Amino acid sequence: MLLNLLEYHWVEDIDEALLLIARTDTKTVPLAGGTYLLGLDDQSIQAIVDLRDLELTYIRDDVKGLHIGAMTTLQMMVDSPVLKDLVTGLLSRAAQASSFSRLIRNSATLGGTLATGVASQADLLTALAVLDAEVLVRSGSKLQVDLSGGSLDRPGFALAGVTYKGKQERRIPCSAFSLEHRPNELIIEVVIPPTGSSYGASFLRIGRTPTDIALLNAAALVEVTDGVYTQVRLALGGVNMEPMRLHGVEKQLEGQHAMNPENTTINAQLLVSALQAGMANFQPPSDFRASSSYRRISGMNLAFRALEEATNISRWRNMVSSKERQ
Ligand SMILES: Cc1cc2nc3c(=O)[nH]c(=O)nc-3n(C[C@H](O)[C@H](O)[C@H](O)COP(=O)(O)OP(=O)(O)OC[C@H]3O[C@@H](n4cnc5c(N)ncnc54)[C@H](O)[C@@H]3O)c2cc1C
Repeated sequence: MLLNLLEYHWVEDIDEALLLIARTDTKTVPLAGGTYLLGLDDQSIQAIVDLRDLELTYIRDDVKGLHIGAMTTLQMMVDSPVLKDLVTGLLSRAAQASSFSRLIRNSATLGGTLATGVASQADLLTALAVLDAEVLVRSGSKLQVDLSGGSLDRPGFALAGVTYKGKQERRIPCSAFSLEHRPNELIIEVVIPPTGSSYGASFLRIGRTPTDIALLNAAALVEVTDGVYTQVRLALGGVNMEPMRLHGVEKQLEGQHAMNPENTTINAQLLVSALQAGMANFQPPSDFRASSSYRRISGMNLAFRALEEATNISRWRNMVSSKERQ
C-alpha cells in the first residue's frame, strides 16, 4: 500500500507527465497497470501519474522495425497477429508465459514490466534480450530564470520568471535497461529491429509446474543460410536473474556449418562444443528455488534444445521460401 500518497494525476499529454515525474520536491512515479506498484509497501511515494490516456497502447511496424507502446498489455501482446507472426511468435509466447493469470496479463503492461525488471519475474525480458530490442525513454525538465537585458552601462529590457522546458530522449538496449534506466525517465516504447523471414526462434522454460514462474528460461534466434549459421543469438534468464546474452556461444557458432556432412541432421557435436566453451564463465545467481550449479547444468541443456529447435525452424523456413521461389 502507498500509505503516503497525496496526489493522483490523470494526465493527457506526455510533456505534462514528464514534468510531474521530474519534480524533486514530491516523489512522483508513473502508474501503468498498477499490478506491481499498488501492492508496494513504499511510504516515500507521494504522487502517481496515470498514463492510460497517453496513447502509448500500440503495436506497429515500419522500416525501423516493430514499435510496441509502453502501455500495451501482456494480453495484447499474446493476441497480436503481428507478434504471432514475428519469428514464430517468440514474443507473444513469452508474454503468455510471463504470467499465467489472464487477469494479470489484462492489466500488466510492457512498460511496467520493464521498469519493474527482475522483480517482475517475467519471461518476456529474456525474449526481448535475444531480439536486440531497445527501449525508448524520455525525460523532461523545467527551469525558471530571471533574464537581465543590455549591459552595465546601457540597461535593456529585463524579463523575470522565464520558463525553459527541456526534453531528452534516448534508447537503451533491453539487456542493459535495469542498469541504465533513471527514475525520471518515462518509457515510451520498445523498438525491435527487423528480422529476416528465414530466422528461426525458440523459447523454452523450466518451472516447478507448467504455470509456475520459470526457474530458468532460454530464448534463441538463429539464421541458417546455405547450411551455415549467419546469425545466432542466445539468452538465459529466470526467477531473480537478469537475462544474460551468451555472446561467447554466439561467436563460437557464427560462420560454422550447422549441418552434418550428409546435410540431413544438425551438427549436435558443434552445439555441445560451442556451449561448453561459451558458457565456461556462466555463473547464474542462487536462490532458495534453484542453486547456481542447478541453473548452470540445466541452462546448458536448455540452451542446447533451444538452439537445436531454432536451427531446425530456420532451415525449414529456408526450404519453404526457396520452394515458393521456384
Ligand atoms: C498477484 C500478482 C502476481 C503477479 N505475478 C506476475 C508474474 O508471475 N509474472 C509477471 O511478469 N508479472 C506478475 N505480476 C505483475 C507485475 O507485478 C508485473 O511486473 C507487471 O508487469 C507490472 O506492470 P504494470 O503495468 O502493472 O506496472 P505498474 O504496477 O503500474 O508499475 C510497475 C513499476 O513500473 C513503473 N512504470 C510503469 N510504467 C512505466 C513507464 N511507462 N515508464 C517508466 N516507469 C513505468 C511504475 O512507476 C512502477 O514502479 C503479478 C502481479 C500480481 C498482483
